[in-house]
Amino acid sequence: MSLAISQLSCFSSINRRLVKFHNRPLQLCSTFPLKVIAMNNDGLSTDGSSLESRTTLSYATDSSKSLNGTSSNSYSAPEEDVTRNEINEPVQENSSSQPKKAAKIHDFCLGIPFGGLVFTGGLIGFIFSRNPATLSTGVLFGGALLALSAISMKVWRQGKTSFPFILGQAVLAAVLLWKNSRTFSLTGKLFPTGIFAAISAAMFCFYSYVILSGDDESKFTYLLGTTEGPENWGTLKPEWKLCETGIFQSPVNFRNKTVKITNRIQHLKPNYKSAPAMIINRGHDIKLQWEGDAGCINIDGTEFKLQQCHWHTPSEHKVDGKCFAMEAHMVHRSADGRIAVVAIPFKIGAPNPFLDGLIHNVKMVDDNGLKLGMVSPQQLGVNDEPFYRYIGSLTVPPCTEGIVWTVLYQARTVSLEQMMALRNVVHDGFEANARPVQGLHKRPVYLAM
Ligand SMILES: [Zn+2]
Repeated sequence: MSLAISQLSCFSSINRRLVKFHNRPLQLCSTFPLKVIAMNNDGLSTDGSSLESRTTLSYATDSSKSLNGTSSNSYSAPEEDVTRNEINEPVQENSSSQPKKAAKIHDFCLGIPFGGLVFTGGLIGFIFSRNPATLSTGVLFGGALLALSAISMKVWRQGKTSFPFILGQAVLAAVLLWKNSRTFSLTGKLFPTGIFAAISAAMFCFYSYVILSGDDESKFTYLLGTTEGPENWGTLKPEWKLCETGIFQSPVNFRNKTVKITNRIQHLKPNYKSAPAMIINRGHDIKLQWEGDAGCINIDGTEFKLQQCHWHTPSEHKVDGKCFAMEAHMVHRSADGRIAVVAIPFKIGAPNPFLDGLIHNVKMVDDNGLKLGMVSPQQLGVNDEPFYRYIGSLTVPPCTEGIVWTVLYQARTVSLEQMMALRNVVHDGFEANARPVQGLHKRPVYLAM
């Protein structure tokens, strides 16, 4: 059973061109328990004066309008941006940076078969030779290798580092190489000792490669309760501190009772155009990156050029505590480096036309990317329509603040197959790649009509 799991994990890791587990449990809005959300919110400051100095959002609101009677199918989520020095930091959400290059194969992918081979080799060798030393070597070394591989896989699936267990396997492989080489030099028998010496040497090289490449595919995960989970992002690196201490964090939950309805916000009139694009599997999500001028949006007189689009499942923003099946983020950047994100919520329904033309490539792409030719952002279907607007942050480390969020009020539809295609190709542990909602801390949220 563990071998089967291991091979599935390795299969997905080695070859991203093939779709992974189709029967992976589908986690939607239940991904992040309310208990955890409350815990995150409690730890943040609610200093109102500080907030005032850090945002520039101020729109007149029309209190005569009410959200009563709005369709439950509607969704609005906002994020906005302001001029902030932090934007000059490397921004993962907006950059083309990939997760650090890591070994394309896990230690346990070959470690478990290797352990099994040593174990059974010892048993078979004992049957033929009746030599207890052969049996003890096989059982001890094979058993230890199997145990270390299994623990390594378990730890890796929890999002923790399995480095000590890989190192242990490397040491065992080195000892086996030494033992078999010595026996081979004494007996001159190519089989089995010569063969085992060669296999041990190859495995020692393999473990060395995994160790030198780094066993962790990413520096953060979405798995709650793990060392690198969302509640701990702020402690993983000094430059990620805002993930823990920031009070302008995203995503957030929009309460339709308290959002400020206004018609004073400049309407969203996207001016997108076709441009060459490439699709990339960043490990934690799928990103469509435009390489030419893909047009722009204008927010309060500032032009923000479209750079890339990526998808989160389930949605990151919530409305009245409920999330959607998926959320697309269209990331824009202004000439002075400010970031504005347009978020599009999706519910399960008819296939999305934009994804229809993309899904084949999604299944094929790895972290090297795939050039797609001309792609029209207009097909994403952002129109002059109602949206939520607020100031927030990137939803991945370093959680940079000062992002202008525009979350469309009306959800689009995506087919279950399309959504699963996006989920299945990301790396293990990132299938549900939505950060839990963060506290608003008195930030104003507007619903632009
Ligand atoms: Zn995003």
